Amino acid sequence: MVSKGDFHTHSTASDGRLSPTELVDLVASQGVQYHALTDHDSTQGVAEAIAAGEKYENYHLIPGVEFGTDIEGAEVHMLGLFLSPHDEDLQAKLWELREGRLNRGEGIVNKLREQGKMIEWSRVQEIAGEASVGRPHIAEALVEAGYVKKVADAFDTLIGRNGTAYVKRPNMTPEDAVEFILARGGLACWAHPADMGITDDQVEPILKRLVGVGMQAMEVFYKDYKPATIEMLRLLTVKYDILPLGGSDYHGIFGNDERLPGDIPLPDSSVERLLEFGRTLPNRELVPS
Ligand code: AMP
Ligand code: ZN
Ligand code: FE
Ligand code: FE
Repeated sequence: MVSKGDFHTHSTASDGRLSPTELVDLVASQGVQYHALTDHDSTQGVAEAIAAGEKYENYHLIPGVEFGTDIEGAEVHMLGLFLSPHDEDLQAKLWELREGRLNRGEGIVNKLREQGKMIEWSRVQEIAGEASVGRPHIAEALVEAGYVKKVADAFDTLIGRNGTAYVKRPNMTPEDAVEFILARGGLACWAHPADMGITDDQVEPILKRLVGVGMQAMEVFYKDYKPATIEMLRLLTVKYDILPLGGSDYHGIFGNDERLPGDIPLPDSSVERLLEFGRTLPNRELVPS
């Protein structure tokens, strides 16, 4: 069964492998009807994705972004859905965040070189192309140069949070991200809350803080979350009266075992609730009818 919605995917505008058009073609061919493109710190893929989606009767694009934020010892990723790519304040913020990624990426490459992994920063930039540069691009350069076998191995030993060449990037706090998304008229959704160094018992206190500043949703039906994790998160969305959303976080860079768009147990009711709620937002004109 393919879900009717998938609210978390990446294209070549950030660290995904498929162009926005290729991604939309894949998502639509899977049978997903409501699809959010949520590149890291970028809406550069949205116009192309909308155009690519026009040939499908039962396909609708939701413009979004994924913000990375830091808390003590862990990361909180925040999806902003229904954000307008034509919003100048949004673009100024995304530009600033992408600039920060450049310095940080070069910092990681310098650390790698000090450790004898002689990849070139210029090669990483070539791999990233127009994209918002990220660690997966560095991982790819490491694979290409033969220092690791696959992208995941690069994260495990070198560039993951506990890796020897990890460098933090200048980030917002999760509260800043929620407030920014709301000020731009969109919907804030905490992505993959049971990952990124956050233990199960830390989820509720963080959630409480973020709901306190207006966060409206949390990703419950995420990629390969186990039924017990999904149920724990779903109950929290009931308790705090927020929307339970879900996404595949499809990147197309993790090889054959990567879950395809729409291969998530997202109930139709979650899609309907999102669309209904979307119509109450300042940016309601971005909600598919
Ligand atoms: P960055 O935006 O540069 O901090 O890189 C974050 C991205 O790297 C995430 O969106 C994932 O696509 C990828 N990533 C993070 N952790 C891992 C991991 N342990 N294994 C593989 N990919 C990862
Ligand atoms: Zn990513
Ligand atoms: Fe993420
Ligand atoms: Fe993501």
